[in-house]
Amino acid sequence: MNKLSIEDLDLAGKRVLMRVDFNVPQNPDGSVSDDKRIRAALKSINYVREKGGKLILMSHLGRPKDFIKAGDMEGLNKLKMDPVADCLRALVGGNVKKLDHVVGLEVEAAVAAMQPGDIILLENTRFEKGEEKNDPELSAQLAKLGDVYVSDAFGTVHRAHASTEGVCKFMSPCAAGFLVAKEMDYFLKVLENPERPLVAILGGKKVEDKILIIDNLLNLVDSLLIGGAMMFTFMKAQGLEIGDSLLDEKGIEVAKKALEKAKEKGVSLLLPEDVVVADKFDNDANIKIVPADGMEKGWMGLDIGPKAAEAYCEAIRKAKTVVWNGPVGAFEMPNFAKGSQAIAETLANSNVVSVIGGGDSASAVKKFKLTDKMSHVSTGGGAALEMLEGKILPGLAALTDKPERGGCCCGCKG
Ligand code: AMP
Repeated sequence: MNKLSIEDLDLAGKRVLMRVDFNVPQNPDGSVSDDKRIRAALKSINYVREKGGKLILMSHLGRPKDFIKAGDMEGLNKLKMDPVADCLRALVGGNVKKLDHVVGLEVEAAVAAMQPGDIILLENTRFEKGEEKNDPELSAQLAKLGDVYVSDAFGTVHRAHASTEGVCKFMSPCAAGFLVAKEMDYFLKVLENPERPLVAILGGKKVEDKILIIDNLLNLVDSLLIGGAMMFTFMKAQGLEIGDSLLDEKGIEVAKKALEKAKEKGVSLLLPEDVVVADKFDNDANIKIVPADGMEKGWMGLDIGPKAAEAYCEAIRKAKTVVWNGPVGAFEMPNFAKGSQAIAETLANSNVVSVIGGGDSASAVKKFKLTDKMSHVSTGGGAALEMLEGKILPGLAALTDKPERGGCCCGCKG
């Protein structure tokens, strides 16, 4: 990674302004129903405290503007960070002060009174109008609160907001927390100098949603394995009958172009040789396995067939790096989960670097209880997709570049 990481910073006695992703699911009363995202930030949180830093945490929670628009103050109140602070207190053992504002004199005074090891949690950043507008005034006010900035919210680095990007224009150094650094490292393993063969598996529903990913990956990969409902749009583009399978009409031209580009680039683009078809979208439907050129009206394809699954797994076994976006079948129904499960198990049992990013593939891997067996399962849906599209993510670009050896520019340890 060519950006500073939290470990490059000298944190003792410093005010550490850290953007985290505490946009947690909530129960109807506003309490936290799943603390996974809070726990994901604990490594960086504990590190700052161990190093004697004063930690100022900030995050958004939900979509306050929807409640403001609807005049629903009760709903809006449930997006205050208090339940998150309760949850954080339980995880770190007390010592978390929750403030009622994001910026301003009261916040500045509370920060000035902090001791090393203290934690402050600011109010929901989206309560400030300037947050989503990336307002320079708000960014500058936030920057006043810290000596160093740490980004540990991978789920929001694709957004140029005041707390994710703007603030970095007003302070330095800005570094990646452990969570963001791990995400960047793994995506760079795929997108820059991957160990080859590099294989991508793309599934999910709509080709149209994945145009940019398909186009970018065709510049990078050795093989592209297509599954999910989108395989039928590719088959249609090849002139095959696809029965009642999902078709993304607008995606047909995209699929044709992708097939041409794969040929030009020498990328092996695999489509399934057989398909699991059903007479309705239901786990209890009548089911049969047919060759890809044997699909009929009245039947819809809901998974790759066993021969295709074996061919895809063979390509995975030969790979050194694999990136997977989107399940290859309607995996929520057990009868159509076999293709995705075979892929997940092969990844789990092979010696490949496996990066699971975006789409529902992370849910599929979780369902098969194989999350821990993957090299990396991305925490950021939208951010992971944009990474694979080859986009520059504003919240990552804003971080301070690692200095040349011995050439510290900004107060890091370099
Ligand atoms: P995505 O969010 O693009 O990764 O799409 C994931 C969704 O695609 C999941 O809900 C799958 O059930 C669905 N899916 C995968 N294959 C098929 C298929 N052959 N027909 C219908 N839906 C599918």
